[in-house]
Amino acid sequence: MFDWLIVGAGFAGSVLAERIASQRNESVLLIDRRSHIGGNAYDCYNEAGILIHKYGPHIFHTNAQSIVDYLSAFTQWRPYEHRVLSQVDGQLLPIPINLDTINKLYGLDLTSEELEQFFASRRETVEEIRTAEDVVVSTVGRELYEKFFRGYTRKQWGVDPSQLNKSVTARVPTRTDRDDRYFGDSFQNMPAGGYTRMFERMLDNPNIKIMLQTDYRDIQSRIPFRRMIYTGPIDEYFDWSLGRLPYRSLRFEHVTIDREQFQPVAVVNYPQTEDYTRITEYKHLTGQQSPKTSLTYEYPTDVGDPYYPVPRAENEALYKRYEALAANVEDVWFVGRLATYRYYNMDQVVGQALATFARIQKSLPLAGSTPAEAAE
Ligand code: FAD
Ligand code: UDP
Repeated sequence: MFDWLIVGAGFAGSVLAERIASQRNESVLLIDRRSHIGGNAYDCYNEAGILIHKYGPHIFHTNAQSIVDYLSAFTQWRPYEHRVLSQVDGQLLPIPINLDTINKLYGLDLTSEELEQFFASRRETVEEIRTAEDVVVSTVGRELYEKFFRGYTRKQWGVDPSQLNKSVTARVPTRTDRDDRYFGDSFQNMPAGGYTRMFERMLDNPNIKIMLQTDYRDIQSRIPFRRMIYTGPIDEYFDWSLGRLPYRSLRFEHVTIDREQFQPVAVVNYPQTEDYTRITEYKHLTGQQSPKTSLTYEYPTDVGDPYYPVPRAENEALYKRYEALAANVEDVWFVGRLATYRYYNMDQVVGQALATFARIQKSLPLAGSTPAEAAE
């Protein structure tokens, strides 16, 4: 009998496996239906010896020192600040939109103050900012929205930005200075040996047994366990009894070419042309040297593995109904991007898993620990 069954070996499941095994000294069976650990953050060396991310570019960034401290027990870090260019009107321009984006796009020589005026004269008044369209048109105006956001968002999500929650495009800031980093976080680094190496270290504990290519649905009645952490899609856990929650998927096309470099930065976005949303070139992330280079093209689709919850009011309402069902399931904790239907970055999932562990410690104090220790 295992003390815990953990479904899913991504960030949510692996952090909890590590915490439970090391801090509670309890046995964990960690399963994943895929053939590897790491969930969507899994990376591996391809046939050309280049470290690639199987499920698209994963760039680590956070403002939370506690999360950095936690992960630093399992990895060293390589400094990397992410930069993205967007192919707009035939030019490669910095995204997030900044001073250089506008000056290059329109052949201007504005200062930051003049750019403020420029945006002020173009932005639309929106009574209540609710949608992914509202966020952008109320900041930079409709023309820039159409060039940089509308096409990309329609491709990525399969619906118009006016049908999506504001949180989607609010992920991308607008700047009036020349800062061309994609993220503004205080900590921006990549795990030095890659994500999979970091997961291997996290899970290297005699209390943790890992079973891959194992679907919870196939083994649930056959493997005895006391408690469970579930990190798969929440609607699937309940046999879709209230209907399907939409998750957006991607088809990844991985290619390696005989060129040292393909594009000037790690990611180039295609908001106006092509069926793919973006191309990633991994060597920029890792600093690897090679006469070859590896790329990933991302083609959004509705079919395939669930990658993104789709943030819109009706989906959030359906999720709330599943969440209410989940609250009544004893001894099961639902954690992670799929199980809590939240468009979370890696650091947020780590934070959510650590917070869940604190709740577990509180509700299941270990024999011999004082209430104060249990609450820590
Ligand atoms: P997952 O990584 O999805 O892990 C869940 C695991 O559960 C999966 O491995 C799945 O196979 C397994 N599973 C599900 N159901 C079952 C079942 N029934 N039985 C057995 N196993 C099951 N975040 C960032 O911070 N920076 C980025 O740059 C970034 N880029 C991203 C790019 C893409 C294309 C995508 C899709 C996501 C990106 N993310 C990024 C988000 C990041 O991937 C997630 O925040 C994180 O991986 C979520 O971890 P998780 O454990 O919740 O879920
Ligand atoms: N987005 C866009 N154009 C861009 C970049 C982003 O329209 O050039 C929108 C799009 O809807 C995207 C969202 O902003 O899904 C969030 O972008 P992010 O880069 O955070 O997406 P992720 O890396 O999570 O796929």
